[in-house]
Amino acid sequence: MIVMKFGGASVATPESFKKIAQIILNQTEEKIIVVVSAMGNTTDQLLNLATQVHPQPPKRELDMLVSVGERVSIALLAMALSLLGREAVSFTGSQSGIMTSSNHSEAKILEVRPHRLQAALDSGKIAIVAGFQGVSFAGEITTLGRGGSDTSAVALAAALGAPAVQFYKDVGGIYTADPKKDSTARILAEMSYDEALELSRQGAKVLHGRSIELAQRNGIELQVFSFDQPNSVGTVVGKGTSRLKTIYYERDI
Ligand code: ASP
Ligand code: MG
Repeated sequence: MIVMKFGGASVATPESFKKIAQIILNQTEEKIIVVVSAMGNTTDQLLNLATQVHPQPPKRELDMLVSVGERVSIALLAMALSLLGREAVSFTGSQSGIMTSSNHSEAKILEVRPHRLQAALDSGKIAIVAGFQGVSFAGEITTLGRGGSDTSAVALAAALGAPAVQFYKDVGGIYTADPKKDSTARILAEMSYDEALELSRQGAKVLHGRSIELAQRNGIELQVFSFDQPNSVGTVVGKGTSRLKTIYYERDI
């Protein structure tokens, strides 16, 4: 079982869905859960759209709106896989059983009830899940905060017992500094959770900080790939850790 996560840059165009579908088909693990972000800058566009209608949109409605971005991606990816002859089913965060706190636009994942994902995987299908979103215990659609799809992916790995999450990014791994600002920046092949957390606190955008904390708590390895070179891993965070028996979510952190 493996969780593969594709960020917004890897699904920026319609063609990119065919490309990542191919990356998914090359996966040798039998059970595959895929988490996707919204296409390119879709989330920014949706937020912008909202403020054109209301300068301070009600947060519930804003979550209803921005969660649409990921929903577009999951459906298109399921279609791309279907074209290649592989059965895949898309699920929203809510359908995936991602239960969150009720604070809109910065909800925390409190629990995952992955019955439907498990059933899809058991019947040989690839489960494709919308990142960045969940549902509160009152049944409202919530989002996790910008960049939150990474945290969705790790929470699903925790819930389903996957030992690792593979992140496919537009950069080849985690750099020692921002490569756009510092020409001496280089990719680190391995780092500890604490080192990755420190980099994220300093503003490195490679992994959502909350996803690193959740991975550390559960003993989930994080592997960062470039979607342009999907055959070689750039950075591994928490290499060689093993899964704990208890499952932890963000309420435990
Ligand atoms: N689409 C959301 C964002 O742009 C979530 C994510 O990409 O992880 O922040
Ligand atoms: Mg995004």
